[in-house]
Amino acid sequence: MAGIYLHIPFCKQACHYCNFHFSTSLKYKSEMVAAMVKELALQRNYLNGAPVETIYFGGGTPSLLEIEDIELLLNEIYAHHRVVKDAEVTLEANPDDLSVTKLKALASTPINRLSIGVQSFAEADLKFMNRAHNAQMAERCIEQAQEQGFTNLTIDLIYGAPTTTHKIWEDNIKKTIDFQVPHISCYGLTVEPNTALHHFVKKGRYRLCRKKKRPNNLNS
Ligand code: SF4
Repeated sequence: MAGIYLHIPFCKQACHYCNFHFSTSLKYKSEMVAAMVKELALQRNYLNGAPVETIYFGGGTPSLLEIEDIELLLNEIYAHHRVVKDAEVTLEANPDDLSVTKLKALASTPINRLSIGVQSFAEADLKFMNRAHNAQMAERCIEQAQEQGFTNLTIDLIYGAPTTTHKIWEDNIKKTIDFQVPHISCYGLTVEPNTALHHFVKKGRYRLCRKKKRPNNLNS
């Protein structure tokens, strides 16, 4: 099985925990897309004719791309590779980008799966993480995506933030199940070097969790 991954290294704003490769300046977005189109052409023989079963737009925030950019990249892939009929074509998307207009446009492309960076349905968590969307957008985008025919969804959730109470986490899971989303990815919040969160921890604004010592009789 062959798959093609396209990294879109742009974001609207920097989430406090994130150390992925991205820029919050969109200045070079068009140049980047043009370079990727060129690279796809240059690497046209890389897969030796193997059928492509998955295409994945990851980031960064691929939902920041214009529909024309997405079409340009997909056209280039379809021109140079044998993409199977039922290929899974995924776009990572943030809730604040998924307007009805955008979803309708996305539904007209080969994209048939959305990976939505919800992270939490709770306002306190989203503020702590410095996400660009609010709790209302987190719910609305799932409803709207499903209304536009995107049933193959995966939702990212983050646990372990100081704002995430047990109740908030239970509600997050419950809401996701109620939406009948077929796949959930849950990530434990980690403090990555050189992130805003790392800086806050160093300054004492947040304390790290410490491992509890196991009672002696449980040590093997
Ligand atoms: S978590 Fe996603 S949206 Fe936030 S800065 Fe990282 S890549 Fe961008």
